[in-house]
Amino acid sequence: MSLSPRFIAFLLAFLIAVSTVAFLTFVEGVTKNMLFVAAASSLVVSFFLILFAIELLVYREVNKMYKTIHKLRMRDFSVSRKNLIKSNNPFKKLNDEIFVYVAKKQQEIEELKKLEQFRREFLADVSHELKTPVFAAQGFIHTLIDGAIDDEFVRDKFLAKAAKSLDGLDALVKDLVALSQMETGEIRMHFEQADLSHITQEVFEQLEKTAQNRNTTLKLKTDVPGPVWVKVDTQRITQVMTNLVENAIKYGNDNGKVLVTLEEDRKHIHVSIRDNGPGIPPEHLSRIFERFYRVDKSRSKERGGTGLGLAIVKHILNAHKTKITVMSKLEKGTTFSFKLEKSE
Ligand code: ADP
Repeated sequence: MSLSPRFIAFLLAFLIAVSTVAFLTFVEGVTKNMLFVAAASSLVVSFFLILFAIELLVYREVNKMYKTIHKLRMRDFSVSRKNLIKSNNPFKKLNDEIFVYVAKKQQEIEELKKLEQFRREFLADVSHELKTPVFAAQGFIHTLIDGAIDDEFVRDKFLAKAAKSLDGLDALVKDLVALSQMETGEIRMHFEQADLSHITQEVFEQLEKTAQNRNTTLKLKTDVPGPVWVKVDTQRITQVMTNLVENAIKYGNDNGKVLVTLEEDRKHIHVSIRDNGPGIPPEHLSRIFERFYRVDKSRSKERGGTGLGLAIVKHILNAHKTKITVMSKLEKGTTFSFKLEKSE
């Protein structure tokens, strides 16, 4: 026997009718006909009232709860919190509370899953990146120990190669430390007034040799007469400019041109770094700011890239509350642009 709402309503209505009749039998002057009418009417009225109450208050609300659970299972969190928990009905309130709580927990779980996946991938990438230069240096040194050291020419060549691998390792560890310190907030930005034109000139001087090796010319164009004052962390923005200009030289063509442009509007200085290199295929453009993402792996490693340069650039610019964009045309070149707040 199932406890359907109708059965419960009938049972309760029957008990009410019986107690009404039992009560009326003690009243003087009540005829049998009257008792029958009282029994029938109390049975019918109670039945419908109780049925209505059960349907309305219990079954309908419980059904809604089932629907909510179904929605949560389907990961449909489309109802906003504002529309919820307004009603005075305790069932509805409970239902809405459950919905909001589970939706929040589900979203947290998804976030944690993503972070966990990211952490796993990052760990795999870091170990792979560290392994490569360590194995290379180890190989050269062991070959030397095994006898190659006696040949002067081979000795010098292998030592130079081992040193190059270790330099790469050093650059990688420095980039990793910089990135992790920025992420954990260990390094705070020190905003100050700085001349972006001066910073760019310094970066050009620092990269002069690298540019000469590829016969690349470095040029600065600005529409601001005199110093270009911006409010930045000088050291970090110098790193941004170094990474971008160095990439433009590294991934540009031999005999290439790198042009840094500084243009002002009312509140900002717009910076762009343009090269006339081979460009970046469109399918890679959205991913080059990810850690260790390289368009051409062998070319990047051969040019001493750690694969973290653009990730660091993105981080530093985020801390300056600005974003970097990239535009590239195959065989024409690549332009990286961002803006910085002016300092008067
Ligand atoms: P890397 O240390 O390998 O240079 P980056 O994060 O600086 O790493 O750059 C990521 C990738 O983006 C590079 O490996 C390269 O393939 C591509 N890239 C960056 N800058 C340029 C550019 N100016 N022209 C063409 N490709 C570029």
